[in-house]
Amino acid sequence: MKKKYIMAPGPTEVPPEVLAEAAKPVMHHRTPQFRKILTEVLDNMKYVIGTARNVYIMASSGTGAMEAAMANVVSAGDKVIVGTIGAFGDRWETMAKAYGASVVKVAPEWGYALSIAEVKKALDANPDAAAIFVQLNETSTGVYNDIEAIGKLTAGHKALLVVDGISGIGAQPYYMDKWGVDVTVIGSQKGLMIPPGLAYVSCSEKAWKVIEANKTPKFYFDLKRYEKAMTKEKMPDTPWTSAVSLIMQQAVALRLIKEETNEKVWERHAKLSKSVREGIKALGLELFAKENPAVVLTSIVAPQGIDTKILVKKIRDDYGISMAGGQGKMEGLIFRVGTLGYTDRFDPIMGVAAVEMALKEMGANIEIGKGVKRTMEVLMEEYK
Ligand SMILES: *Cc1c(COP(=O)(O)O)cnc(C)c1O
Repeated sequence: MKKKYIMAPGPTEVPPEVLAEAAKPVMHHRTPQFRKILTEVLDNMKYVIGTARNVYIMASSGTGAMEAAMANVVSAGDKVIVGTIGAFGDRWETMAKAYGASVVKVAPEWGYALSIAEVKKALDANPDAAAIFVQLNETSTGVYNDIEAIGKLTAGHKALLVVDGISGIGAQPYYMDKWGVDVTVIGSQKGLMIPPGLAYVSCSEKAWKVIEANKTPKFYFDLKRYEKAMTKEKMPDTPWTSAVSLIMQQAVALRLIKEETNEKVWERHAKLSKSVREGIKALGLELFAKENPAVVLTSIVAPQGIDTKILVKKIRDDYGISMAGGQGKMEGLIFRVGTLGYTDRFDPIMGVAAVEMALKEMGANIEIGKGVKRTMEVLMEEYK
C-alpha cells in the first residue's frame, strides 16, 4: 500500500467533503434547484475575485478561460503587450499570435517579476496597444507580479489589463475592482480546491465595451452568450450544459473558503510557503525566485549533479508524493513544491522531509533533518 499526496501547484488535493459531493445524483441543470447552487457559486466567486461584476463559469481547464479572454478582447491585427515571466506568460504570447495579434514583449529573465518601470515604458511606447496580458502568479518559476501597480498604469491607458490568476487567486491577495483589472481568468484545480474542469472569467466595464465591439470568430467561448444567460428568468444560467457535479463541488469548496475568509486563506498560504522556503535555505539549497517568491509553491534549484526529472519521479513513485519538475527551459534544473489549496501546517514538513530523503538517497551533499528542523521552527513561530 502506498498513501498518495499531491504537493504540486495543480491539480491540488481536494477536501473530503468536496470529494463526497461528486457522488451525489446528477441534477438537471435547467432547474431552480441547480440554478440556486450556481447563484451561490457565482456570488462566492465574486467575493474570492474581489469584484462586483458578473463572473462567468465555463467547462474547461484554465487555458480555456485564457482563450475566452483572448478571443473576446483581441481582434486580428491588434497590437498587444505580453508581460511574461515564465512558461504561462509565454502561453499568452503564443495564443495572441494564434489570434493574429502582433506582440510587444516585456520579458525579464526567469526568476524575476515584471519590472513596473519596464511595463510603463512598454505602455508609453505603445499607446495603441489593445491589451496587456500578465500572470498574477507565474507557476512555472514560482514568482508573482505586482498587479496593483500594473493596474495603476493601465487605468489611464487604452490597454485592457488581462490577468491570469489561475494559480494565484484563492491563495494570495487579489482585488480585481480595486486594482483596476479588466479581465480576470481562473481555473478550478488550484486554489479553488476542486478537481480540474471548471474555469472562470470576469470583465470590467472597460473590457465589456471592447468585447461588444470585438469581431473575432468564436462560439463556445463567446462571452456575450455567457452574459445573456446570466439574466435568463432573473437567475444565472450557463449558455451550455453546466458541469453540474463540478459546480456542486465548487459550492462546497467555496463555503470552506468563505468560512475561513479570504484574508485567513492568504495568510495560511504565506505561512506555509515561508516555512518551506526557510527549510530549503537551511538545507543549503538555492531558491529559484530572485524576488516576489510565490506563496502557492516554492521553486528550488537542483543541487549539483541532480536531475530534477529523476528527483520528482523518485518522490512520486517511491514516496507517493506528487511534486513538480521544471517547465520549458528549466526542465531538469529546478523542482517545485506546492503548498496550494487544501493544505495545512504539517504539509510543509512532509514536503521538505521528502526532498531531504530523496536528495540524500540520490547522493547529494546535504545533512538530513536540517531543513525539516528549520521548517518546524518557522511553523511554530508563525502559529504561535
Ligand atoms: C495551471 C496554470 C495554467 C493552465 O491551466 P490549465 O488548467 O492547465 O489549462 C495557466 N496559467 C497558470 C498561471 C497556471 O498555473
